[in-house]
Amino acid sequence: MTPSLSRLREQFPALAQPGLIYLDNAATTQKPVAVLDAMNHFYRRHNANVHRGAHRLSDLATRDFEGARDIVANFLNASAREEVIFTRGTTEAMNLLARSLGSHLLQPGDEILIDTWAHHACIVPWQQMAIQTGAKLVPIPLTPAGDLDLDAYESLLSPRTKVVSLTQISNALGKQAPLHQMLPAAKAMGAITIVDGAQAVAHLPVDVQALGCDFYAFSGHKCYGPTGIGVLWGRQQLLQQMPPYQYGGEMIDTVSFEGSRFNRLPYKFEAGTPAIAEAIGLGAALSFIQSLDTNAVANHEQALMNRAKAGLAGLDGVAAIAADGDNLGALSFRVDGEHHQDIGILLDQAGIAVRCGHHCCQPLMQALGLKGSCRVSFALYNTEAEVDAFVAALQEITEFLND
Ligand code: PMP
Repeated sequence: MTPSLSRLREQFPALAQPGLIYLDNAATTQKPVAVLDAMNHFYRRHNANVHRGAHRLSDLATRDFEGARDIVANFLNASAREEVIFTRGTTEAMNLLARSLGSHLLQPGDEILIDTWAHHACIVPWQQMAIQTGAKLVPIPLTPAGDLDLDAYESLLSPRTKVVSLTQISNALGKQAPLHQMLPAAKAMGAITIVDGAQAVAHLPVDVQALGCDFYAFSGHKCYGPTGIGVLWGRQQLLQQMPPYQYGGEMIDTVSFEGSRFNRLPYKFEAGTPAIAEAIGLGAALSFIQSLDTNAVANHEQALMNRAKAGLAGLDGVAAIAADGDNLGALSFRVDGEHHQDIGILLDQAGIAVRCGHHCCQPLMQALGLKGSCRVSFALYNTEAEVDAFVAALQEITEFLND
């Protein structure tokens, strides 16, 4: 391990536990001291409700909370801070969009295109909205290699396509969508475009203006921040036209029993007391990412991925899934004749945390002809020695099972 990687790991207290090799980062990442300290400081010193303005502590809390919004806006290269809406995570962002945008936009016969990599969080909210509005959910199929079928995608796009929802990086396969190709094609049809960036933010710089999508969502806990906080970024003009998603305090301007007037952006979409400490923690997480050398992190993570692929390729009866491209972050694999859960339990007994199951992507698993898979997923703090330990443990397990 290089001295700089060792210093980086020291910033993540959870990694210091003996006997833990944490390779389940696509599920959630560990948190650096900067995030823990920011949240701790808020609760110890500045804890008050925000936007009340009645006293000094509330002003401090508001400053910290709105400061976090500025960090997010800067991180995403949003054109305005009003475009950054705090949600509980990607799931809530997708529910917000389906409910608010769907009810406002969809007519019977309209189509919502969703890629087959999609997480349930991207499928189910639109499926429910399709039931309510008479619109139709249309899956973008896969090629035999597990990539998105771009020819099929282009032929599915039509004037009926009102929404195109794309997964930037598949949480199950680590594959990356060619957004630069897919988003303009959707825009040319006049569709609203949504990108699920849940698996991207920890691994790639994100520039929503350069991407050219209409909406972008991610979760704090997958990029070294806390749980319970996420972001929906959207174009101001579209957000302005959309009705609120939830109703209550904070999201209103005036209320009377005769009627209510809603607040301006972004507050129109943030009903109730927000997750203040979590937003501050997210701000600290994104600042932490911005403080690192992005190229060095990307090279390190790619080296871990290449090592894992080479390691798996050397094991009898083990096959990586959809692994012939530049997988990023996550890699799925299967062991011939063995249930993925059994492999997960045996790896856990060896102190190695991986994820086994359908990864909240049942349609993807069906398309691949699998019930589930085992998945290793890397973060910037993982080491080559950890990858080697994982491969060695898997080798021992397969040899033991074949005995
Ligand atoms: N989309 C993707 C690609 C994900 O990996 C996840 C989390 N596994 C989600 C959406 C949902 O995120 P959350 O559970 O944080 O809302």
